[in-house]
Amino acid sequence: MPIYEYECNKCGAVFEIILLKDGNPPPCPTCGSHRTRKLIAAPAIHIKEDHATARIEKRVKDYLKDGKVSDAVRFADKAASMVKSDQVKRIADKLHEKTDKIRKSI
Ligand SMILES: [Zn+2]
Repeated sequence: MPIYEYECNKCGAVFEIILLKDGNPPPCPTCGSHRTRKLIAAPAIHIKEDHATARIEKRVKDYLKDGKVSDAVRFADKAASMVKSDQVKRIADKLHEKTDKIRKSI
């Protein structure tokens, strides 16, 4: 779901809003003015990435919970190659570390 950042032309408030479709500018939550404009959504991209990371992490944990270690590793590697995020890379690296230990202990 796209998250947009808007700035109010009247009072200068900056707010984030989730829009189902690109339509009329949303009213300012601070002063109610409709004179708002969309900003370049740098923080929104960040939010989206965090969201993806959380979903990937949950998926990996679910695999591990089910004992599907190799599936978890495969999924984490694929996710890391698709989502260019340090956090996702860290999840994959951590998982490799963990599974290496498991393999060594067997
Ligand atoms: Zn305002």
